[in-house]
Amino acid sequence: HRGLGNWIHRRREKSRGKTAIISPFGELSYDELADRIDQLAAALADAGVSRGDRVAYLGENHPAFLETLFATTSLGAIFVPLNTRLVPAEIAFALKDSGASVLIFSRVLEGLAVLAHRQLSTETEDVTEPSLGLLIAVNDGEPVDYARPDDSPEILQYEDFLASSAGAEHRDVPVALEDPAVILYTSGTTGNPKGAVLSHQNFTWNSFNVLVDYDVSSTDVAMMIAPMFHVASLGMGVLPMLLKGATVVLEPKFDPGRTLELIEKHQATSISGVPTTYQMLCEHPDWDRRDISSLGKLTCGGSAVPHRVMDAYEERGLSFSGGYGMTETSPGATSMQPAMSRIKAGSAGLPHFFTDIRIVDPLGEPCSVGEVGEIQIQGPNVIAEYWNRPDATAASYDEGGWFKSGDMGYRDEQGYLFISDRLKDMIISGGENIYPAQVEQEIAQLPQVGSVAVIGVPDEKWGEVPKAIIVLRDGFQLSVAEVREYLADRVAKYKIPPTVEFVADMPRTASGKIRKTDLRKKYAN
Ligand code: ATP
Ligand code: MG
Repeated sequence: HRGLGNWIHRRREKSRGKTAIISPFGELSYDELADRIDQLAAALADAGVSRGDRVAYLGENHPAFLETLFATTSLGAIFVPLNTRLVPAEIAFALKDSGASVLIFSRVLEGLAVLAHRQLSTETEDVTEPSLGLLIAVNDGEPVDYARPDDSPEILQYEDFLASSAGAEHRDVPVALEDPAVILYTSGTTGNPKGAVLSHQNFTWNSFNVLVDYDVSSTDVAMMIAPMFHVASLGMGVLPMLLKGATVVLEPKFDPGRTLELIEKHQATSISGVPTTYQMLCEHPDWDRRDISSLGKLTCGGSAVPHRVMDAYEERGLSFSGGYGMTETSPGATSMQPAMSRIKAGSAGLPHFFTDIRIVDPLGEPCSVGEVGEIQIQGPNVIAEYWNRPDATAASYDEGGWFKSGDMGYRDEQGYLFISDRLKDMIISGGENIYPAQVEQEIAQLPQVGSVAVIGVPDEKWGEVPKAIIVLRDGFQLSVAEVREYLADRVAKYKIPPTVEFVADMPRTASGKIRKTDLRKKYAN
């Protein structure tokens, strides 16, 4: 009875009357949230959802996302959040792969849901009945225009569905902490997304890590501007905050002006985002006009914050904490304290309290201090398997149970982790290893550069050489010679890309990461 499905009810006992969620769709106290979770769980149970079944959710940040998460897990069933940036075929893939029997979706995204459902039904027609039997729309606005097929499925309304069940006592199907709670698909940066099976215990221990390593408090008001279908927002932000009894401010879309306004209005104490989020906030005209002095905790994930952005925040007495992680570690593996972020510039910090990391060479032998190797992770926040992918599961663990991250890095004398790059992205040029991320970080410091990717391209003499692909910021100009000159005293000669290509935009995954596999294909000759 210590699974995710009980969290809000346990919390209610301790935080009666306290506001759990603030959103444009209304506010909910912990009591109200718990009641709505019970109603939804009862309705889902009436509809046949039971232990081990999958319930998918497609939508931006909304209280219904959390209601579905906790109601589903209170039945011992598995919650499957979907990325709203995916196209119908990708949604259909995740629905089919997970075998979800229910899809709860934002009405605004009705087109995406209906087209994905249609694709799923056509594909599975001859084999078996489509497993997706129930579509429920959360009324959060008008649907974006789409060509509605004639044979559209029946769609129930979320609030009607909630009200449909008579008895709504708290369902509390006992679970083992090792049981699956959530299937979350990886970003697909290195290939097809895999369904990481996150157990109750994975999220619990990740939350413990967060509570120990960051100063989370019950008086926190946390701005949740990053979508909760991303593991960073869900695992590092919203779950530890709710466990602690804090208040979360859910925003469906990130708008820098509105975010600044809400920080002032709700006296928000914490915010998390990616470097672009922070850049957009400090470049907004209201940046100087809004009182954001309540903010104490800023976390930045994904990649390093550019110096010019860091400076803008430090001028207002604000510094960042960061970390390294992945879907498979629920997601925290290491964390960086703000006080150390200048001293250990570029580091992803130290392992989380209950989590261990090690660096190994290609033979699986531990590397020495400063030596680059693969980062491996172990701890109660690390998943035990991928959904329906015994091959990928078997390939992901070393003997001794270490999870192979596929990322390269090294640790310094104090144990601080520095990420070099992805194993798959490493370039070998004339026998020298080049980590594109290092060259990218240097190029990104040029004020003209909007985004940059460095990939390896075939070369007769060296085997492979680096190539830089750059999207310039609007209204800026830059030449190949200027890029190479800038790099000349910053990186070794063999790391300087002989060719630079300026392009209008980058191929990206639904989570915004650059698809290097596509770039490598494009520039292969
Ligand atoms: P897939 O596994 O499907 O290829 P993905 O690995 O991009 O996709 P995620 O789990 O969303 O999917 O991302 C985790 C990855 O993000 C890490 O393995 C690492 O490569 C990268 N990453 C996370 N934090 C950092 C960081 N602080 N610095 C550099 N890279 C990071
Ligand atoms: Mg990955």
